[in-house]
Amino acid sequence: MKGIGQKPYWVGMNMSDEEEPLSVESRIAPPPLTCPRCDNLLPSELGEVKCRICRSEVKVEHEGTRKAWREEKISCPACNKVLIAGVDKRPAKIECSSCKAHFELKAHKVKVEITCPKCECKLRMNQRPGERQITCPACSAVFKINF
Ligand SMILES: [Zn+2]
Ligand SMILES: [Zn+2]
Ligand SMILES: [Zn+2]
Repeated sequence: MKGIGQKPYWVGMNMSDEEEPLSVESRIAPPPLTCPRCDNLLPSELGEVKCRICRSEVKVEHEGTRKAWREEKISCPACNKVLIAGVDKRPAKIECSSCKAHFELKAHKVKVEITCPKCECKLRMNQRPGERQITCPACSAVFKINF
């Protein structure tokens, strides 16, 4: 009878020891605004917002968004307890009042739905100001979109 388990072997070698920082994404974004100079969509931020297209700085304030941000309910990514954000900016650093974990409350990523001009399938993607070239995953049509 042959002995087993005599040779050394690796048990689940851990390749990455870098931990993903804890974070949650905010569900609230400021209303879409266009740049007063070039009319392109501004990034969905508040405060000093820089137009990605013409580089002009625009001051954007929206009391409703600030209030909604302060009162937004988020669940702690470490212990799942529901917390009130309490801060009127995004991204923000939050400390859980229950488990004391620190995590990042990220800005909401605005998703847009576009329709492929060739096959008319719907594509969802992150909104990013400026012109982008898209390749439709369904029919491989290449077309340009501009937000
Ligand atoms: Zn602009
Ligand atoms: Zn917690
Ligand atoms: Zn298509």
